[in-house]
Amino acid sequence: MLLIFRDTPLTTATSPSLSDRAYQIKESQIREASRYCERFGAINLAQGLPDFPAPEAIKESARAAITLDFNQYADSWGWDKLREEIAVKMLRDNQITVDPDTEVTVCCGATEGLNIALMTLINQGDRVLVFEPFYENYIPNLATVGGIPEFITLQPPQWEVTQEMLEPSFKKGIKAVIINSPANPTGKVWTKSELELIARLCQQYDVYAITDEIYEYIIYEGEHISLMSIEGMRDRTIVVNGFSKTFCITGWRLGYTVASPVLTAAMRRIHDFITICAPAPLQHAALTAMQFGREYFTNLALDYKRKRDMLYPALVKLGISPVLPKGAYYIWTDSSAIAPDAESAAFRLAKEALVAAVPGSCFSHPERTQVNGLRFCFAKKDSTIALAIKNLLKIKL
Ligand code: PLP
Repeated sequence: MLLIFRDTPLTTATSPSLSDRAYQIKESQIREASRYCERFGAINLAQGLPDFPAPEAIKESARAAITLDFNQYADSWGWDKLREEIAVKMLRDNQITVDPDTEVTVCCGATEGLNIALMTLINQGDRVLVFEPFYENYIPNLATVGGIPEFITLQPPQWEVTQEMLEPSFKKGIKAVIINSPANPTGKVWTKSELELIARLCQQYDVYAITDEIYEYIIYEGEHISLMSIEGMRDRTIVVNGFSKTFCITGWRLGYTVASPVLTAAMRRIHDFITICAPAPLQHAALTAMQFGREYFTNLALDYKRKRDMLYPALVKLGISPVLPKGAYYIWTDSSAIAPDAESAAFRLAKEALVAAVPGSCFSHPERTQVNGLRFCFAKKDSTIALAIKNLLKIKL
C-alpha cells in the first residue's frame, strides 16, 4: 500500500508562532517521490518497505497476544522475555554479553532508538559525525536536539573510510559519530579495519558512537560486525536496532537499544516520557520472530540477494552506473544520464518509465547544489521487480 502525505506549508498568514526546530525540519523527499509515483501510477521502488507479507507465524503470534489480552501498557523498558531474547541474540550474533535488566530497552522502532540516543548524548551545538550519503532521518533527528551534523562524503564504489578522512573531524571536536552498517542508501558494509579505526579515534578523542544496525541480517558480502564488540567501545557505543526490516513489519514500530547501564538508564527515562512503551502485543510476536531458526535469517539474505541480482543488471543495461550493494536492500546509481540533477531524474523516471526511485539529494548534504544519484529499493516481490525492469528498459536515454 502506498502512503501519501500532504505537506502543509509552515508559514501562512495565520501561522502560529513555531519553534526554530520546527522550521529546520523539511518534508521527506521520499514521501514526495511516493506522491508523484501515485500520480503517474508508477511502481514504487522509492520507499524502503516490502510489498510482500510478513511471516505467518509472527502474525499468528500477534493475533494470539491480542486475544490473550496483552493490550495494556507493557513494561516501559520492554517485555522482560523479549529483552532476555535480545541479550541471547547479542551474545550469539554480536559476541557481546548484555544484561537484559539494565542494558536493553525496547522502543518504537529504531527511529525512536536513534532519537532517544541523540537526546541522551547531544546538547545544543554539539557536533555529530555523519557519513554521506546518509539515511535521511539523521539530519532532522539531529535538528530536533540542536546537534550539528559534521559530514564526511564517501565515494562509490567502495564507500571506503580512511584515517585521513576521519582525523580532521575528530580533531575539530565531535561528541558522537553515527555509523550505519549495512548502510542505507549505499549498501556499504563497514569492514573490521574501518571499525577499528573509528574505535581508536573515538577513544583518543572521547567520542561516543551510535550504531544503526537495522540491516544486520541483510548482507551479501562481508560480515556484520557490531562496533560495540570492538575493544574499548563497550561503554561508549549505543546500538540501535529493530524488527522492521528483518521480519518485514515496518508498520509495527518495534526496535531496541543496547547500551551501558548508565546510558540505558538515561535513555529509558526519555523513552518512558515520550512513548511509555512499545506496542505490548506486538512484543510477544517479536519474541516469536527472534526465535526463528537460523534458516530464516539465511534465507532472508539469499532472497534479497536474488532480488538485488535481478535489478542490478537492468540498471547496468540502462546505463546509470549502479553500485552493487554489499548489504541492505537498496541500489545507488548515477542519475546524470537521465537528467541534469537527481530530482529531475527521479521525476522523469516516474513519469516516463513509471518507476519511482528516490533522488540522491535526499541522502546528501543539505547545501549541496548538484547531486547526481538515485536510490532504488528492491524489497519488492519478484513480479514487481520484473515489471519495473520491463518499464525501465523501455526508456530511451
Ligand atoms: N535506520 C535505517 C538505516 C533505515 O533505513 C530505517 C528505515 O528505512 C530505519 C532506521 C527505521 O527503522 P524503524 O522502522 O525500526 O524505525
